[in-house]
Amino acid sequence: MLEVFFLGTGGIMPTRERNVPAIALRYKGEIILFDAGEGTMRQMNAARLSPMKVEKIFITHFHGDHYLGLAALIQTMNLWDREKPLHIYGPKYTFEFVQHFLQSGFFRPGFEVHVHELGETRLRFGDYEIWSFKVEHGIPALGYVFKEKDRRGRFLPEKLAQYGLSEGPVLGRLEREGKIEWNGRIIRLEDVTGPRRKGVKVVYTGDTGPAERTRLFAERADLLIHDATYLSQGDRGESYHSTVEEACEIARNARVKLLALFHRAFRYTYDEYLLGASEVCRRLGVNFIVPRDFDVLTFKSGKWKLRNHLEEGE
Ligand SMILES: [Zn+2]
Ligand SMILES: [Zn+2]
Repeated sequence: MLEVFFLGTGGIMPTRERNVPAIALRYKGEIILFDAGEGTMRQMNAARLSPMKVEKIFITHFHGDHYLGLAALIQTMNLWDREKPLHIYGPKYTFEFVQHFLQSGFFRPGFEVHVHELGETRLRFGDYEIWSFKVEHGIPALGYVFKEKDRRGRFLPEKLAQYGLSEGPVLGRLEREGKIEWNGRIIRLEDVTGPRRKGVKVVYTGDTGPAERTRLFAERADLLIHDATYLSQGDRGESYHSTVEEACEIARNARVKLLALFHRAFRYTYDEYLLGASEVCRRLGVNFIVPRDFDVLTFKSGKWKLRNHLEEGE
């Protein structure tokens, strides 16, 4: 099961109702953080997510609204006697900028902080991969893909019966080795299992104008969290951000299941933005949400379910 916590959904600066960008993915007990705007520590507290469970932080780019929360996070981890190393990933210059934090105030971390500067990279970790890709923001900036590994298909009882295989150690061996000899026959794993099950795919663009790279990397994603700072081209001007319509077009062309419109400009109220976004997304036939702070998407059995952490009083 994968959960996506929207900890901060606004762009540029915080407002009364929303904080600046931070997204936490919870997967098999681990919390992976994407961006850490100012106040991310507080947002994590409110969502009951412990920074001690964070091993990896992926920063999309070094504009203040996406990284100023890092210092507080690192210092708090230190205060709580963290021993586990922390890995921080980001575009070119990440090393230099993170060094500033590590030497800020009367503070030296008592744990290892490893910094990784990425281009378009594919990182492999246990049951998932993280891919980085270049976006259009006028400065070094990356989008990220979380991709769970595909899994084998389920064992098919009628096939197992046909080969005289029963549940138990022999199936474990078949799974490990890919094929076994049984009753004088060679049986391959694919002989007795259904189609492979696709791992969940989540894409987060960070700040970007509409980009072909995004469409490419978001192909058939289960969730695309896309910059949709502005409702109209007029508001967007020449900035390296996207309008709702541009985000929708990428989502549609990449055939994504669900689009989360992210990084709303502070000038819009929620209702005003939702109204404008609904009109555009319906016209383009895109399945979308406008996440609020503390909204949580849970992916289970191929479907997303949306709840709000604070409203449920968890
Ligand atoms: Zn931003
Ligand atoms: Zn930016």
